[in-house]
Amino acid sequence: MTDLTSLSLAEARDGIRARAFSAVELTQAHLRSMEAARALNAFITETPQHALAMAREADGRVAEGNLGALEGLPLGIKDLFCTRGVLTTAASHILHGFKPPYESTVTANLWRAGAVMLGKLNLDEFAMGSSNETSYYGPVLSPWRRRGSNVDLVPGGSSGGSAAAVAAELCLGATGTDTGGSIRQPAAVAGICGIKPTYGRVSRWGIVAFASSLDQAGPMARTVKDCAILLKAMAGHDPKDSTCANIGVPDYEKALTRDVRGLRVGIPREYRIDGTPVEIDALWARGAQWLRDAGAEIIEVSLPHTQYALAAYYIVAPAEASSNLARYDGVRFGLREAGSDITDMYEKTRAAGFGREVQRRILIGTYVLSAGYYDAYYLKAQRVRSLIKRDFEQAFEKVDVLLTPTAPGPAFGIGEKSDDPISMYLNDVFTVTVNLAGLPGMSVPAGLSAEGLPLGLQVIGRPFDEETVLRTCSFLEEAAAFKAKPEAWWRAVA
Ligand code: GLN
Repeated sequence: MTDLTSLSLAEARDGIRARAFSAVELTQAHLRSMEAARALNAFITETPQHALAMAREADGRVAEGNLGALEGLPLGIKDLFCTRGVLTTAASHILHGFKPPYESTVTANLWRAGAVMLGKLNLDEFAMGSSNETSYYGPVLSPWRRRGSNVDLVPGGSSGGSAAAVAAELCLGATGTDTGGSIRQPAAVAGICGIKPTYGRVSRWGIVAFASSLDQAGPMARTVKDCAILLKAMAGHDPKDSTCANIGVPDYEKALTRDVRGLRVGIPREYRIDGTPVEIDALWARGAQWLRDAGAEIIEVSLPHTQYALAAYYIVAPAEASSNLARYDGVRFGLREAGSDITDMYEKTRAAGFGREVQRRILIGTYVLSAGYYDAYYLKAQRVRSLIKRDFEQAFEKVDVLLTPTAPGPAFGIGEKSDDPISMYLNDVFTVTVNLAGLPGMSVPAGLSAEGLPLGLQVIGRPFDEETVLRTCSFLEEAAAFKAKPEAWWRAVA
């Protein structure tokens, strides 16, 4: 029965519809894989009872012939999404014991479509990081290892638990969130697919906020088609989120024609960055060649303000985070440390509850927003952001999508970059621009590094044109024919 975990989400959906197996059987197979994969530390909370109850209900609906789009399909949920009555931590000590009395819109949409929750997935604390090493619940290990090596690698971040769980076949798909790359970068280094939709495509209601003008939730799964199916179920207008767009959600699965004839694909000149490994550049060139061979037009474009994107992001994101995280004060929920008076209680709670990276971001954010520095840093970063957005608007006058690498390298070792925030932040060099401009971007696995680790390509689209992004990615997926899987070393350890 473990074979059921290697099905794609689309195959599992069709199997349930054809009654080849039940939702309970499918769920049990995944619960067994999860149990055998505890060495990866992908889940913060496993919810097997919950999962089986949901699966039984799904089987009831199958028996009645009343199937939802995701009927009986087991998913992992990044522990940044509030789930009613189920511990929600944001991988932070400060949310100690927090069981939300409400359900996020995205997860509610998934359950309404019939999906089954396996548990809550590990992440970087408050989604701040690129390696899943800042989690209060410990790092997630990548299921991947370098060829011939047993060094533990990072799964990427911040959606590292989601990436590891999907790659290790512990769930059919997972939710992620992406503020500066946290869906796309972990997808790339874990050899899976992930799409960050246009800002406003998916409701942020009930998702623990990091940087509200950049955060967007999206799916992570092993195929482009699986992401298309999940995105359709997650997306849609939500009156509870004023930034959520009232725009119809297309049938993304129908968009996957793989036809790229006549498609104008931009290659942004400024993404050729000194020091990028040769194999990343080679992969990028190969991706462009596949598209050209299939009849797409490859056009070099310029995004002149790219070089300022990381600096702008690491001002805007911490500024918004410092404001969003002001609510964690020990008064209403989560951790509370005893103090001699209320100020002392706040200080002790926040000192004990936030990890080092989160404290660093709060400090940076508070600094750039403070009187005297606001104009010099925050306001300037916002201006740069407008210029970056304009660069994309001008590029999209000439092209339909952009093709870039997703990350500047394959997975790195646990601990390798954790003492060097700048080198960690450089991981986001190809992804943050997309959040700053609010565009849809997707990573698709496109090849292996010399050491046998997955590498991804990123496709960026016009606002609300996820269909063209998915179509291009489904073409690249087919052209790359990426079939590699990690060896299941963790099963022996468990
Ligand atoms: N790595 C980036 C950061 O640390 C992006 C994180 C994210 O997208 N949530 O801010």
